[in-house]
Parts: sequence; structure tokens; C-alpha cells
Amino acid sequence: MEKEIIEKYKKAGEISKQAKIFARSQIKDGTKILDLADKIEKLIREKADGTAFPVNISINDITAHYAPDINDETILKNGDLVKIDIGVQVDGYIADTAFSVCVGEKSHPLIKAAEDAVNKFIQEIRPGKTIEEMSALVEEVVLSHGVNPVRNLAGHSIEQYLVHGNISIPPTKITNKQQIKEGAALGFEVFTTNGEGWVKESSPTLIYMLLYPKPVRLRESRIILEKIVNEYKTFPFAKRWLKDVTSPLRLQLALRELVNSGTIKEYPPLREKSNAITAQAEETVLVFDKPIVTTKI
Ligand code: MN
Ligand code: MN
Repeated sequence: MEKEIIEKYKKAGEISKQAKIFARSQIKDGTKILDLADKIEKLIREKADGTAFPVNISINDITAHYAPDINDETILKNGDLVKIDIGVQVDGYIADTAFSVCVGEKSHPLIKAAEDAVNKFIQEIRPGKTIEEMSALVEEVVLSHGVNPVRNLAGHSIEQYLVHGNISIPPTKITNKQQIKEGAALGFEVFTTNGEGWVKESSPTLIYMLLYPKPVRLRESRIILEKIVNEYKTFPFAKRWLKDVTSPLRLQLALRELVNSGTIKEYPPLREKSNAITAQAEETVLVFDKPIVTTKI
């Protein structure tokens, strides 16, 4: 990996750290998550080339892919287990990082388990390690805390302009002797729960991403597509970011047309199947003999 590319990953990582420190300072009983997401995204846009995806603020059994809706009234309450997932990009090079807080508490066993698993992964990851070895390690660490991993959410490789690359590192041992190469960028993440440990798709969808531009009929669909091509590119975007395009009803119709035509893809919120609470930890790691963790505070 070239030095300039590493520097861009590091810059994105530095900005993600600032965003995480700010986010943590705002999490308390009564915080409106709409305001929180807007402020975090503003901070990222001021300092980086942009967000790599909308800030995800997922509470309790909602595990991932919740970005506040237009006029979202949700507020944080003491005891909520909130996961903040932040994406920053500099020239398309991404920092993907997440942390969890139990509102009003210093810590939580699920958060400790997720963080411990990510930290052990960082200690052990080296060029040449196999996906099998790393997934087995993560499973062992999570189970040693007496909790379950969320099995259908995985750590992943990152490419320029692409949050989810080809490599997937699940939190349970899989038979896969593929080696992780020197210079690979990973968004390594672990979700933990006291529940069954599976997520299922929920509603309403609040996050979308470009698949391939196709001809669309509605005027609003064309405006959205132009915004995607010019601003969001291949990065996921929030429905909330389109609130000034048209009325909420017309916006929903346009998004429906874009999904049905295969222009954009939906990322519905993911909810733990047994409605159990979940925690998340994630860091972006550049794999070298001495790994570089760009997002670690
Ligand atoms: Mn993430
Ligand atoms: Mn990720």
C-alpha cells in the first residue's frame, strides 16, 4: 500500500476519532438522536471529503442501519444501549468505526465483550492469518464473556469508495483458509447480545445506496438520482438528507421507484430476532506486521 493512501486512511481515522469523542459527549438521557446525527455528520463534512455512510444510531434490539428519519422524535433514555456507527471518507478512503454506550451507566457486559473481541482481533491480526483462525478467535472471546455474537453480521474488507469489500470475517468459526493479505483494510466489527444472536430486517428503511443508474419516470426520482451521482456516489445515504427535495409522500414514492427499478438498494434497520439488546464495537485496521488501527482513540 502506497504511503499517500495510508495517510488518507489515517486522516479519515483522525476525523472519525473526533466525531466519536463529540458523539460520546452528547449521549445522555433526553438527547434527541436526530440532532445528534445532524451534528456528527456536520462535523464530518466540515473536516473530511464527506461521510462514508449516514451516522447510524441504533438503540437496544435495533442493532444496525438506523439513521434518524425526517422529524424523528426518538430521544435517548437512561438504560438504552445505543450503538453509534460512523463513516468518514478522504478521497474515497474510509474510516468505519463504532462504539456503544449504555445511557447513564459507565459500562455494560455486552459492550465489554464486543470491545474485548475487537481488541483481541487487533492484537492477533497479521498478514497471512486466515479468515478461519480469526473468526474462531472472535467467537472464543465473545463466548468467554457468557454472551452470544450476532452471527449474521461480520467484519469486512474496505476498498476505496466501497464500505463493504469482498472479505467477510464473521464472529463464529467458519471453514475458510483464505489468508488476509498485507495492506488489506478491514472494518472489523463485532456485535454481542444476550439473545439468540441473529438479526432480521425491520422497517422503515432509512438508508439507501446506488446500485446502477437506470431511467426513471418521476421528476423527484431524477432529482434524487442526480444528487446521488454528484454528491453521494457509491456511499450509502440517508432518506433524511433528501427532505428538501419534495414532500415526504412524494419522496417515499420516488425512493420506491428507484428501488423497484434497481437503481438503488435499501438497507433496512436490522433488529435482533429475539428482541434482545445488542452492543457493537468496530475499528478500521490496516493489516501489516505492525497493524495500523486508524480509528482507535
Ligand atoms: Mn460501521
Ligand atoms: Mn463496518
